[in-house]
Amino acid sequence: MSATRASVLVGGEEVTTGFAPVLNPARISEVVGEFALGGAGEIDLAARAAASAFPGWAALSPAERAAYLVKAADALEAEVPELAALLTREVGKVLHESYGDAGGAPRLLRYFAGLAEDIAAAEEPAELPWPGRAVTRHVPMGPVGVIAPWNTPVFLAFMSIGPALMAGNPVIVKPPEEAPLALSRAVAVLADALPSGVVGRVPGLGPDAGAALSEHPAVRRLMFTGSVATGSRVLASAAPTIKNVTLELGGNDPALVLHDAVIDETMLRELVAGVFGLSGQICYNVKRIYVHRSRLAEFTDGFTELVSRIRVGEGSDPRATIGPVTTRAQYHRVLALRDATAAAGAKVTVVGEQLDPFGWNEGYFILPSVVTDIAPDAPLVTEEQFGPIVPILPFDDEEEAVRLANSTDYGLAASVWSADTDRAWALARRLEAGTAFVNVHRVGASPMSVPFGGIKHSGIGRTHGLTSVLECMEQQAVVTYDDPSLLPGTDHWN
Ligand code: NAD
Repeated sequence: MSATRASVLVGGEEVTTGFAPVLNPARISEVVGEFALGGAGEIDLAARAAASAFPGWAALSPAERAAYLVKAADALEAEVPELAALLTREVGKVLHESYGDAGGAPRLLRYFAGLAEDIAAAEEPAELPWPGRAVTRHVPMGPVGVIAPWNTPVFLAFMSIGPALMAGNPVIVKPPEEAPLALSRAVAVLADALPSGVVGRVPGLGPDAGAALSEHPAVRRLMFTGSVATGSRVLASAAPTIKNVTLELGGNDPALVLHDAVIDETMLRELVAGVFGLSGQICYNVKRIYVHRSRLAEFTDGFTELVSRIRVGEGSDPRATIGPVTTRAQYHRVLALRDATAAAGAKVTVVGEQLDPFGWNEGYFILPSVVTDIAPDAPLVTEEQFGPIVPILPFDDEEEAVRLANSTDYGLAASVWSADTDRAWALARRLEAGTAFVNVHRVGASPMSVPFGGIKHSGIGRTHGLTSVLECMEQQAVVTYDDPSLLPGTDHWN
């Protein structure tokens, strides 16, 4: 099966469909591969196969399911270099970022397999007011639809696939149309290692394959990662069949640099990586920086100096710090936002080095920008810009900093930077965010053992941790009494 051809895969068999090309964002004339244009018919086939596989997979113990996941992780480990090379060609990101993404598949499967004993032990007894017995059980739900975005497709899909499978549910994966190849390959390797029908794969366009998956009555749960607008549509599509839904959506993460922050090379590097990782296209990227007015000039100078060392080029070029942005729409949106910000009177400082071995205009390359003297309600501050550009704004006291940080519908991650970690810790707890960091702010700094996800419009539910497995299971209470005649309420029926 070719790694550059993402077909529909149901019960280990390829299904015949039409195909569309996948383009390299660093060389837009280069076709990297092709993906199947799956739709409602293919989703129906995959959902039926998953429903048939459900009883067998659900009947296995967590330890038996874990053994399958470890077998798949071993097989995926051997594929990481090829998957990483593919990711760099379809997403555009630099190779070390692609290795982090591809390597996530085996790491996540091993992590979730390691929870087998905790899952088995999750059955909890409850206290009863009369002699008897009650337990809360966690039971598998049914087929789970996993829908992934293009920025970190392998890691983000396996972040949902791992807990869904360990919970005893088959999965149907819908890769993103912009970058479907590496994830499709990883899902094929997973499917090969598991019983037939437990893993299905349906590439296709969002409004076709994605919408059909969100609506299908046999799918009992959706695990969606992507934008707020699409997440809202997915939630609406899930409503008629009362599906259980997890949404991992966008963010507009603030970083608060307090008056006593240690502004040294370590801190600046951490923040530059936090802003410009994957060319600014990570949900957990820092997207707004608020600095105490007394440190504004010092911070801005040091930060801009470090940003000016960023080298922008093709992801496979070892000299490149960042690659192009991934999509044509994103390229034009970020440049338009940059132009509008400058036209509105803000100071836009474009820095960084352009590596140009093949023609800058052949790809979606954007040099990094640092923006100052900008209004707090400018679109660059209030929107999720998703590109290599960041606004820096002042604040005068901590109350104002908290108010500015929380003045958004998003609530994914946030950070506080200070030499006084106790004070920073206390302030972090006041931030409306699913993850609040102190003196760090990167997606990689959130370990698999802690819940990952957003509040407000940034999402519903959590991945990572035992929580994410239990969220993929139904709770069933089993209750009995030694002597039911002791219970009040039956006298009436004499
Ligand atoms: P997107 O919402 O456009 O697409 C995500 C997925 O949804 C794709 O697979 C797409 O095909 C599918 N889709 C599109 N229309 C659909 C529909 N009507 N029904 C069902 N599925 C549909 O998002 P994107 O542009 O690929 O990704 C970027 C966004 O994802 C950003 O907002 C980013 O912050 C967010 N994101 C969030 C997290 C997180 O963990 N919270 C992680 C990464 C990215």
